[in-house]
Amino acid sequence: MKRLCSMILMLAALSCLAACGKGSQTGQTDADSGAASRKEESVMNRSGQSKGNTDILVAYFSCTGTTKPLAEYAAEYLNADLYEIKAETPYTSEDLDYNASGSRANKEQDDSSARPAISGKVEDMDKYHTVVLAYPIWWGQAPRIISTFLESYDFKGKTIVPFCTSHSSGIGSSDKNLHSLVDGGTEWKDGKRFAAGTSEKEITEWLSGLGIEPFTAEEKEGETSRRSFDFEKKTVKLNSGYEMPLNGIGTYSLEDDTCVNSVSEALKRGVRLIDTAYMYHNEAEVGEAVRNSGIPREEIFVTTKLYPNQFSEPEKAIDEALNKLDIEYIDMMLLHHPGTDDVKAYKAMEQAVEDGKIRSIGLSNWYVEELEEFLPQVSITPALVQNEIHPYYQENEVIPYIQDLGIVVQGWYPLGGRGHTAELLGDETISAIAKAHGKSSAQVILRWNLQKGVVVIPGSSNPDHIQENTELYDFELTDEEMEKINALDRNEKHDWY
Ligand code: NAP
Repeated sequence: MKRLCSMILMLAALSCLAACGKGSQTGQTDADSGAASRKEESVMNRSGQSKGNTDILVAYFSCTGTTKPLAEYAAEYLNADLYEIKAETPYTSEDLDYNASGSRANKEQDDSSARPAISGKVEDMDKYHTVVLAYPIWWGQAPRIISTFLESYDFKGKTIVPFCTSHSSGIGSSDKNLHSLVDGGTEWKDGKRFAAGTSEKEITEWLSGLGIEPFTAEEKEGETSRRSFDFEKKTVKLNSGYEMPLNGIGTYSLEDDTCVNSVSEALKRGVRLIDTAYMYHNEAEVGEAVRNSGIPREEIFVTTKLYPNQFSEPEKAIDEALNKLDIEYIDMMLLHHPGTDDVKAYKAMEQAVEDGKIRSIGLSNWYVEELEEFLPQVSITPALVQNEIHPYYQENEVIPYIQDLGIVVQGWYPLGGRGHTAELLGDETISAIAKAHGKSSAQVILRWNLQKGVVVIPGSSNPDHIQENTELYDFELTDEEMEKINALDRNEKHDWY
């Protein structure tokens, strides 16, 4: 029976090992690359420099060069160190001959205790919190040298992200079978198989979908976890690579000329972020104000949203938004709130990103549970989540959860929303802090959001208010003041979603 299984596995692995053999014959294998270089420290970035400033390691074993470029894609995207697992005794073409039952690779794969020695080592494994582990499939399993690698270090507290390359077979149980080789306390992500020639985009989308993102542990904490708000430029860089302003104008309930005028006033006053939605029935007016502003298109960032009643025909809805806005492309499109077919709608937005219709995509009114369920079903990690956030409804659990995923948080109803602003702006604590800084209550609330790493889009049709809402960068709230406002949380939602 074992033999039969082996034969089946052998067939699955056949093309990979065949490729190994071919590489050996042409002298292109890793095994032939020279003993001297093998002895060198091999944690390098792509340009061959030891980076030493990252906490993600991409470790790979590649005998023919199939796995290597994909590992390099991962390292490049993650800004990670790259480590090549090289055998102390290089594999020759005879070693890799799958037809010879006694060949070295066949014998090793047949012997679960085989541990081929590795040349060199990862110098400072302690500094990595995540290890992406890449290997070819040999006989349906990871080559035994991967076992050697895993047993050589302490992976406690680390996350291991395995992927394999193979021409025909899938990852099978090869990733799960590695789990027992490391002590407990290690988080394993589900592995994935990639074919030779897989694109960089596919690799990066997979990593991003798993929440493996290109920033360091330090960046994940404190100030910089907020995807680095740049208070000089007043922008934040999204995980899509685009920059978005930190403060904007919301256009909910602004209709017809009121909307055109409000957005035009905001643009005149330096506001470059505009939030609209299909449901606000004013995308055309927002587009008109943008086109008439004379400001270069790429300097303005427009967000719109698909409403759940559009999710069943999302392609049509996206084109409708593009037509109404008439501003060449949409900077950010969100799903307005969860609903039937939301995954389908999101996937259509992913395609629209691919087609150049939309630059960044995200979600609105998604909280921890909703995100946990939704994210594994989509490929592109949202760049933004827009939720209700104000001093009486602070979402203190939700905000860091979203930020730790590398997603920017934006707050709607920053001033409490129409009908609620008087109480919030008149709040004693906020008014006292405002007085101390010579600022308005609205400015203090907006600044409090910014210092929590939350982008603000206050709505207004009053030019004085619009102006006031831009003047948020010439003062700073102290830790104590931040704490005082944090203490005002009442978990009091001002809208239903
Ligand atoms: P908001 O920004 O909390 O409050 C708007 C109200 O505040 C208006 O009545 C406005 O009146 C007043 N205001 C603005 N600036 C002020 C200032 N400096 N001093 C005193 N009053 C000021 O509520 P919102 O506009 O409804 O919400 C903000 C944006 O979030 C919306 O416009 C929309 O784009 C977005 N949003 C998204 C969702 C979602 O589900 N994704 C839901 C709701 C809202 P004046 O016009 O007189 O200035």
